[in-house]
Amino acid sequence: MDKTIINKNDIGVFYKDLKKEYTVYGVKEKEEGFYVFDEADEFTDPLENYKPTILPPKKLLFPQKETLLRFNTQPYPDIQPVIESKKQILFGVRPCDIHGINLLDKIFTTDHEDINYTNRRAKTVIIGMDCLRPCYEHAHCASVDCLDVDEGYDIMMTDIGHGFYISINTPMGEEIIEKYTNSIGASIDDRDKFEGLMKERKNKFEMKFTTDISNLPLLFKNADNDPVWDELNDRCLGCGRCNIVCPTCYCFDVFDCMELNMTSGERCREWDACTLKDFAVVATGENFRSTRGQRLKHRFNRKFNYLMTKYNTSFCTGCGRCTRSCPVNIDIVETVNTVIKNNKGDGQ
Ligand code: SF4
Ligand code: SF4
Repeated sequence: MDKTIINKNDIGVFYKDLKKEYTVYGVKEKEEGFYVFDEADEFTDPLENYKPTILPPKKLLFPQKETLLRFNTQPYPDIQPVIESKKQILFGVRPCDIHGINLLDKIFTTDHEDINYTNRRAKTVIIGMDCLRPCYEHAHCASVDCLDVDEGYDIMMTDIGHGFYISINTPMGEEIIEKYTNSIGASIDDRDKFEGLMKERKNKFEMKFTTDISNLPLLFKNADNDPVWDELNDRCLGCGRCNIVCPTCYCFDVFDCMELNMTSGERCREWDACTLKDFAVVATGENFRSTRGQRLKHRFNRKFNYLMTKYNTSFCTGCGRCTRSCPVNIDIVETVNTVIKNNKGDGQ
């Protein structure tokens, strides 16, 4: 599809016009240096520099808590599914978070379709914002192949100085650009500028893992008795923050809430976290991962071994949120590199 340019002065009008038809979630600065995806009346422009939002945009596709069905037992048993969705736009999503959404797409459609998720996803338009430099010290997107993204978004915007270079990826993206912008065709100079910036940025993103990610599944498989898990056992608080902020964690708990009349109620689900103490407790009371070290080992294996082996892609997108949020500074890059070192010796 042809490339176009949106003038920087027109982006606010574009944002406002989208709100006539969609609920638009853009990036807002909640407090100094901390950003959230939220509805905003106006387009504010932290986009070029914003650090990953506190929670990833997955919260708008897979809410922290939602009702799955409502039921009555009187006068006769009746169960009604609850499937809620609306036309929404996620505006200014970074490539790492688009990768996160792509992974959730796989999870919620493989083996069993999660219709609450897929209904929301089908009505969601994603407008991405490319990264030209690392957004903060914890970002390691390039190390996990998540700096470039070629699917999962409708439109990608790249700041080329005087305007945003627009790459359209879907018919929906094309329709939106045609309907809501006065975009102009990109000139040869614009295209050269874009290509130059894309080339330049490669040198700005450091490879932070000391081996290629394709080696990680085997390294983690062999790291069952690695001393790093004992060390993390002593440091980790088992608070669950690393799970909650992660764009690719998708575990949830399902529970029923009865009304006081005890004849009607709701079945709900809520995000869960594999680092929490009770996550692996079974009905007989046993806990299959009773220590914090065992639970962290499991979490790292989910990102770099089990799911990576099944889907052939890293389940860490390199956003760095877990490192930033950990109250005891457990750093995902440091931990991965320790596993690499302890299990390969030469770090290769
Ligand atoms: S594991 Fe950490 S760095 Fe990787 S995607 Fe999850 S929150 Fe981001
Ligand atoms: S955020 Fe840190 S302390 Fe909390 S569970 Fe995760 S690794 Fe442990």
